[in-house]
Amino acid sequence: MTTDRIWEGDVVVVGAGPAGAWAAACLARGGARVALVDRRPRGDAGAQWVNGLASWLLDEAGCVHPRPPELLGAGHRFTILSPLGNHRVDVDDHPLYEVDMRLLGLRLADEAEAAGAEMLWETVAEEVEIGSAGRPVALTATRTSGGIEERLRLRASVFVDASGLPAVLRRQVPRLAHACPPPAPSDLCVAAQEVREISDRGGARAFLGRHDAEPEQTLAWTGVEGGYSVLNVRVDADFNRMSILTGSTALPRYRSGRRILDDFARQHDWVGPRIFGGSRALPLRRPYSRLVAPGIALLGDAACQVYPTHGSGIGIGLAAARMLADAILGALRRREDPGARPAMWGYSSAFHRKWGALMCSADAFRRFSQTLRPADVDRMMGHGILSPQMVADGLAQRPASVHLDGLWTQLRGMSKAGDLAARLIPVLARLPLIERVAATYPKRDSGHIQVDIYRYERRMRWLVDSVGSRR
Ligand SMILES: Cc1cc2nc3c(=O)[nH]c(=O)nc-3n(C[C@H](O)[C@H](O)[C@H](O)COP(=O)(O)OP(=O)(O)OC[C@H]3O[C@@H](n4cnc5c(N)ncnc54)[C@H](O)[C@@H]3O)c2cc1C
Repeated sequence: MTTDRIWEGDVVVVGAGPAGAWAAACLARGGARVALVDRRPRGDAGAQWVNGLASWLLDEAGCVHPRPPELLGAGHRFTILSPLGNHRVDVDDHPLYEVDMRLLGLRLADEAEAAGAEMLWETVAEEVEIGSAGRPVALTATRTSGGIEERLRLRASVFVDASGLPAVLRRQVPRLAHACPPPAPSDLCVAAQEVREISDRGGARAFLGRHDAEPEQTLAWTGVEGGYSVLNVRVDADFNRMSILTGSTALPRYRSGRRILDDFARQHDWVGPRIFGGSRALPLRRPYSRLVAPGIALLGDAACQVYPTHGSGIGIGLAAARMLADAILGALRRREDPGARPAMWGYSSAFHRKWGALMCSADAFRRFSQTLRPADVDRMMGHGILSPQMVADGLAQRPASVHLDGLWTQLRGMSKAGDLAARLIPVLARLPLIERVAATYPKRDSGHIQVDIYRYERRMRWLVDSVGSRR
């Protein structure tokens, strides 16, 4: 292979989705020499649809909050409807932003560029060169711009895999490939989101009327295609546009998010042509216990840093990006090798010690939800087990809070729900244990980190992965 250009610096970030772009921005601002590589052209990387984003996670990430036109809505009523249509739960008090991810993604990439990151658009990351002791030392990539192909060799102390589900670097680094297997189909959500024109305002009004809803309110049908599935519909205030979000587990017996969305549009003739949106798979399993190896760190979907209960990866990915940047910049300031074990494990440890309990508990609940049939979801809502507070906590991606008034209704509901309660209670009983195990994630690389991580992983497998294992 002939190389047209060599780039050398501190960090190469592969993937300019929200997590990678924000990591590159934080690193460049802190004085690191960074290259940000994405196969897509500028303005087309990462999520290209509308996402719900818990506002407090932006503070965790140190990221400026969105404003219109990037911000499409905030704090509107969110209504969960049972699949058989018998029950609903309304939530008014939640911190969800509706964000146009095309604009947020561009803003983050522009921040990286303004801070001095080398932006390599339309550049496909290809082969990782592994040096002595199994550490990545270089990456080859091909850039195609205006019909001209350029071969690049990128050398750096740290390579960040923020390439999303394809995980192009993780799969090539033996230590990570072994410890971080690709998620199984039952641990993937196939989701779709589109913003569409409204072709018949009367039809849209009648639809809202039938469901006792207002414009801007989100109507979310859960369990429409297996226990872990959703169909969200939201009509804009001016009746010009509407948005649909769908998702289901990636198993052949379920319709995919794409199919659910297309079917809904076909069945409702007030839904007009697509304006923008997209569809793809995203990981639902708890984040990998091992996020790093010497010279490489995993970030975002490539690390499975997605809140499992509803497949939300933006906020957690941004918060993780900042943690990773802090660990690398700290090492650079101390004039240490940022790809060496202390900095790399510093990131993995900071992430798991802060988010491990929340993410693993949410994964246990996600696995339980995959075992639910439509009648189970209906009963959970009918008996008040799924309370407005529980839904609000879930939307906010916070641990479930205990409220005495609601708790009594939930306990009474459980006593009526019989077999359902018998399935749910063992899952709830695991949550304090998951929290305890999460607190044992090693604080630093103390020399026997492999053994410590092996023990941690084994316990989490036992507590989390076994939930609903016969689904
Ligand atoms: C339809 C849908 C709706 C969703 N809704 C929500 C929501 O409401 N809230 C929420 O928080 N999350 C939501 N998510 C999940 C969220 O979009 C992802 O978790 C998030 O985009 C992951 O960000 P990322 O930066 O890790 O990776 P990505 O956004 O996947 O970005 C990865 C980037 O890597 C690039 N890349 C891949 N391979 C290569 C290569 N070989 N060389 C160079 N570049 C490469 C890609 O071009 C891409 O730009 C949704 C997902 C989908 C599919």
